[in-house]
Amino acid sequence: MVSRQLRSGIVRTCEFGSDGYVGAFGVLLAGRYQLEELLGRGGMGEVWRARDEVLGRPVAVKLLLAGGVDPTATARFHQEAQTTARLSHPNVVAVYDFGQADDRLYLAMEMVQGHSLAERLASGGPLTPREVAAIGSQTASGLAAAHHQGIIHRDIKPANLLLVPDGTVKVVDFGIARLADDTAAALTSAGMIVGTVSYLAPERALGKDAGPASDMYALGCVLYELLAGHPPFRADTPTALLYQHVQESPLPPHSVGVELPAELEQLVLALLAKEPEARPGAEQVADWLSAPGRWSAAATAQPTSPPSSRPAAEVGRTAVLPAPATRRSRRRDSRPRTAVISGLAAAALATVGYLLYQPDSAQVAAADPPAATQGAVPPTTDPASSPSVASDASPLSSPSAAVDTPAALSNDPGVLLGQVSQELSAAAGEGRLDPHLADDLEHKVSEAQDKLAEGREKGKDKTKDVRKRVRDIRHELADAEKHQEFTSTPEFDRLLDHLASLVGDTD
Ligand code: ADP
Ligand code: MG
Repeated sequence: MVSRQLRSGIVRTCEFGSDGYVGAFGVLLAGRYQLEELLGRGGMGEVWRARDEVLGRPVAVKLLLAGGVDPTATARFHQEAQTTARLSHPNVVAVYDFGQADDRLYLAMEMVQGHSLAERLASGGPLTPREVAAIGSQTASGLAAAHHQGIIHRDIKPANLLLVPDGTVKVVDFGIARLADDTAAALTSAGMIVGTVSYLAPERALGKDAGPASDMYALGCVLYELLAGHPPFRADTPTALLYQHVQESPLPPHSVGVELPAELEQLVLALLAKEPEARPGAEQVADWLSAPGRWSAAATAQPTSPPSSRPAAEVGRTAVLPAPATRRSRRRDSRPRTAVISGLAAAALATVGYLLYQPDSAQVAAADPPAATQGAVPPTTDPASSPSVASDASPLSSPSAAVDTPAALSNDPGVLLGQVSQELSAAAGEGRLDPHLADDLEHKVSEAQDKLAEGREKGKDKTKDVRKRVRDIRHELADAEKHQEFTSTPEFDRLLDHLASLVGDTD
């Protein structure tokens, strides 16, 4: 039995091979990597600080059980190694080695001493505009290298950006990255949305494939969050969030109390443009943010004025960026609402498809729409029959709208688990949940989903296995809440209670 303290302060006790852990303190992997400390646990596996005994240097080792529960996970892991290895850039984590040892796949990489931006946000709150500009410029630089190679990251978010104490940013987790033109290599079936909803570009919310501009949108969300302490859009359900990405204009950071140079605000809003082609490219952003003198004392001290009140000519003179579509992005998207809603409804079904890991899930979802679809986006495309959408007084017309009518919850545990997973990401993204714990719990959610899928495939009752995970998740969250590492919402509590009662976890 091994006890250790995670960076987040959570004490973790585990035994090799038990408790679902892939690695353990003291294990010598592949005769070479001595595992020392569990750094993080996410959707893909575990990340350990380790020592390379051959070269005598620290490394980070990502571990996955070979041929684990989900065969696509193994394929993605291979792909992550190969994709990251193609990139050699100071702002992208370097891959050293990849292989299989016993029953585990491992990926040895550069050990980044520091914390993820999610941890940094949770512990220190918003950053200064100057810090944000430096982070933005480096992340964009790393992304430019990837985009040059035709690689789209597809999951840019604070937890995947590591910050070294000297200020260097390293992009990690190319686990769901894909080559822009390599549709054959898609490891996610058509129609699935993979990524984190708080940072999901509108085109992806509508079910289209990710392009380089989708990474730029995610970067815009991250920079916004670093400045404001919360992402541009927040909602109680994933579908309401998707809707906002597609339809709502972000509130400019200065209007939520952030003091920042007008040009930086314009850049962030340009990255958040609804139309992918209106967003600046990675190289452009990196160059613009790192231009000499850009963040001199005089430049940062200038008063902030709303971009819409700045004459276009002035914007053109001060920014090398294409005139950002701020005027447009400050208004509601002018596309016919019905088109957006039908596209979004399809995307919501696609999300459910991903969450259930079932080819025919769209039918399942259509027969039993998830709560979010019912509550946030009425499945109808006829505005006349849907006054809450047709009316501008609808809660959906406000950028920070939350759905205030409690939606009926689905009775499908698969749908509910999917919603739990999205809520966990949202809570971590908003700093309401310790990111390590969020990763840990999302892992449990995906285990429960795997059990469900396995049960469905083999026609077996896996309720007991699912119940165990649900119970663990609830206990860990209750514990975290007690220790102020988690702040729940009434909707999340309701969702968890409903899921628990469905699977018979009644204590
Ligand atoms: P996942 O696919 O499971 O999300 P990530 O690659 O994002 O895995 O890693 C999860 C966490 O592990 C990160 O948020 C970070 O805290 C830590 N981590 C990942 N790679 C490294 C690294 N090279 N050096 C130090 N910590 C790392
Ligand atoms: Mg990650």
